[in-house]
Amino acid sequence: MTDWVGSPRIWYESGATFVRVCMKCGRFVTADKTILVGDAGLKPVPNATCRHCGRVEMEFEGFMPSIHNHDD
Ligand SMILES: [Zn+2]
Repeated sequence: MTDWVGSPRIWYESGATFVRVCMKCGRFVTADKTILVGDAGLKPVPNATCRHCGRVEMEFEGFMPSIHNHDD
């Protein structure tokens, strides 16, 4: 279990949600505007920029359903 409760998150249109914290140093990172998602799921590439570490990967939290829930 990670201890990211209360941490800032970013949600993309694909439903992928990430914690906007550097996995290396714990700093807040600047998330990319878009992420790469292939047929097999997320591409394991850097998706954010840390002021200290440079290009890094954010902690992937999961695919969340739309916050608007209009299918229900
Ligand atoms: Zn960092």
